[in-house]
Amino acid sequence: MSNVPELFGSMVFNDTVMKARLPKSAYKALKETREKGKALDPKVADMVANTMKEWALEKGATHFTHWFQPMTGITAEKHDSFIYPVDGEQVIMEFSGKELIKGEPDASSFPSGGLRATFEARGYTAWDPTSDAFVKEKSLCIPTAFYSYGGEALDKKTPLLRSMDAINKQALRILKLFGNTQVTHVTTTVGPEQEYFLIDKALYEKRKDLLYTGRTLLGAKPPKGQELDDHYFGALKPRVAAFMADLNEELWKLGILAKTEHNEVAPAQHELAPIFTSSNVATDHNQLVMEIMKKVAIRHGLTCLLHEKPFEGINGNGKHNNWSMSTDQGENLLEPGETPSENAQFLLFLSAVIEAVDKHQDLLRISVASAGNDHRLGANEAPPAIVSMFVGEDLEEILNDIESGTPCVKKDRVFMEIGTDVLPKISRDATDRNRTSPFAFTGNKFEFRMVGSADSVACPNMILNTIIADTLCSFADRLEKASDFKSELNKLIQETIKKHKRIIFNGNNYAPEWIDEAKKRGLLNLRSTVDALPYYTTPENVSMFEKHGVLTKTEVYSRRDIQLENYWKQISIEALSMVDMIRRDLLPAAASYMKDLCATANSKKQFSSDLSCGFEKGLLEKLAPLTTELYQKTEDLSAAANTDRTFKDTLDEAEYFHNTVFALMEETRTVADQIEPLLGSAYLPYPTYGELLFSVV
Ligand code: ADP
Ligand code: MG
Repeated sequence: MSNVPELFGSMVFNDTVMKARLPKSAYKALKETREKGKALDPKVADMVANTMKEWALEKGATHFTHWFQPMTGITAEKHDSFIYPVDGEQVIMEFSGKELIKGEPDASSFPSGGLRATFEARGYTAWDPTSDAFVKEKSLCIPTAFYSYGGEALDKKTPLLRSMDAINKQALRILKLFGNTQVTHVTTTVGPEQEYFLIDKALYEKRKDLLYTGRTLLGAKPPKGQELDDHYFGALKPRVAAFMADLNEELWKLGILAKTEHNEVAPAQHELAPIFTSSNVATDHNQLVMEIMKKVAIRHGLTCLLHEKPFEGINGNGKHNNWSMSTDQGENLLEPGETPSENAQFLLFLSAVIEAVDKHQDLLRISVASAGNDHRLGANEAPPAIVSMFVGEDLEEILNDIESGTPCVKKDRVFMEIGTDVLPKISRDATDRNRTSPFAFTGNKFEFRMVGSADSVACPNMILNTIIADTLCSFADRLEKASDFKSELNKLIQETIKKHKRIIFNGNNYAPEWIDEAKKRGLLNLRSTVDALPYYTTPENVSMFEKHGVLTKTEVYSRRDIQLENYWKQISIEALSMVDMIRRDLLPAAASYMKDLCATANSKKQFSSDLSCGFEKGLLEKLAPLTTELYQKTEDLSAAANTDRTFKDTLDEAEYFHNTVFALMEETRTVADQIEPLLGSAYLPYPTYGELLFSVV
């Protein structure tokens, strides 16, 4: 491997490159734009574009692209070459400030949830100078936001950037109240841990379900699954180690802080964690991580599965979204401090998160809702669909003391009066034990564990930033008016804990009793995407988004519809793929096996009437009724998926696909999975779970 420090960021037009290559005044102007959002003078923009181009050409680029994140959840790029004709037959390489700042991709095919009327089908892309441009596969990629003619966001990035502004504004108000006047900017920080499966590419290509849907729609349980936990943190297999080394190198070149990697609980499952960075950069980087994982896997004869539930009965893939807030002075606002005042400030930010999570369980659930993630959430695995919060015993005890106002005699702790006492040290150990909580405090950050592995982290972070900004705003409104700040602060924290402590749960979130307990506490349990999405557009939610300038009412409605549409389309593709596999592969395989069993039995009888046909008969007696049942279920499923019903709206359609089509898929699969283990290996039309999970060595 090459020299890592030299390699790191070598394909990124970062601050160091800008400083070294731009004229001083242009560098200063660009820095103002990057840090304070000041508009860039067109002349300076031309200068930046030219410098960017020269640098990109040295890196082998021939094209440039505005790189954006439409509502499909993956990134989009449209490549233009730098060539510009001169003197008839010659070309020069050109790139202007105008091209850098704004683009007009023909975007009529991106989902817009009805936002882009056909009379103005164009979408526009606008440079996001806060995320660095980079060279990937001979193209200069310029991170951009994507919006409609009317200015409505058509992407995942724009609302995220708006939400970062909103939380910055509110957090600064709070810091000012604590006398902190040096801070000029608060950024939200994110470190998304990415889970994925690696399987053999040749086997992958033999499974239509994986090809069409990213998950297995059929497949009997293998003799060995994950029961031994022998994969977790196990030694890396050589092919996997080679993949990871190659992946790291690719990511480092793009300045992505890939830090840790290990085997996960399930066989063939792995994880990559980066070092955290600002939310928007982390979002861009995570999109690149997913894309590059897939590409590098192919180079190693592997396929990377990012689906939330590629295999039934085996752990699914999640993405742990580690989240915090940090000042431009380098202070992590979720780090318990050393002085009474720092601790009071920490407790206030902590209270804001507690209130936000309790008040907006619906939005947090919506931010991770997808057909794929429904298999994890609410399926007695990973975090449940119920949103709750883990703070650890130490911190809960402190919160209880504050709430009751009674001295705590346990341990060596005395009654805390906020702003006068120092918090006892909260050990990281005590905060990191619960792995079942959907939203866990881990010492100096929160880990939101409900995010689906294939999803962009833009939406969950947009929601987190907005709901916490909203709570901080109401706190600031109240505290700014107070005549006695300290006593009002004490009251506020105490009241917040009292009112919202129902969201705190330190126990086992996978236990069935938790569901009853959560119900008693009045917590939401939105088990599926179709249960969750209607909450997006409640008047309270719409007005909150509008108040903080994150989403307009139209944008909220369009996003709800896009998510619902993605949902039913996904289920529809899955249903049709399942029907295809059963009709064209599984049933013919079973027929051929049954035919051979009959033939063997017949020839045995002809050979000698004394020969027993017990095994053939036994298998036929099992297979005949199962195949008949499977045939019938598949007919029903096909009819349901190809329905000609008219639907009231997208919600109605999504509900139909959930309640009818998806339910039939589950029934059909149950029968198919009983047939598969009865068939001889030579008859099996596609690789089994055992082969898929254990063949990479
Ligand atoms: P684990 O959760 O596996 O115990 P760590 O706590 O070290 O591991 O980190 C998990 C992830 O949290 C990493 O991606 C790390 O960069 C990220 N992280 C650490 N501190 C912060 C922070 N202040 N804000 C956001 N993410 C953070
Ligand atoms: Mg973690």
